[in-house]
Amino acid sequence: MAVFKYSWGAELQGGQLTDADLAWQYLFERRVITITSERWERRFSYRLREQDGGHAVEMLNGPDNRRDFRFIGRIGDDGQFASTTATPDVRWLGFKLFAEAVAPLWAGDMPAGLGLWHDNVCGRCRRRLTVPTSVAFGFGPECIDQVKRRKP
Ligand SMILES: [Zn+2]
Repeated sequence: MAVFKYSWGAELQGGQLTDADLAWQYLFERRVITITSERWERRFSYRLREQDGGHAVEMLNGPDNRRDFRFIGRIGDDGQFASTTATPDVRWLGFKLFAEAVAPLWAGDMPAGLGLWHDNVCGRCRRRLTVPTSVAFGFGPECIDQVKRRKP
């Protein structure tokens, strides 16, 4: 299994989606998926929402991974992602990476050069985890400190 380098140096395996069909299904279960790009050294998180017989795509755009999602486009019945704008603002890379991931996934292939990660819940506080390092560890950063301290 290919291990996608994340954290730009560290290799993580836990939390990575490595099967294209399952990654596609995960997205369609309305769970949060995070896409990492080694080339850009960036990551963005997305979720889908059913809307008018298709699916609206929302991108995480703030610190609260339950609420801070913003509409960026739609996936039609043909699996094509149509973004709402081509404006090259700060969110442009987020549009681009989603489009680069969805086209091969629809065809049944894993996107080249991108890492796909599922979400998780923190083993201590049960908050949603979306950062790949946290998903791999099973705890958020504050809780990792707490659980490390209580180690017998
Ligand atoms: Zn926690």
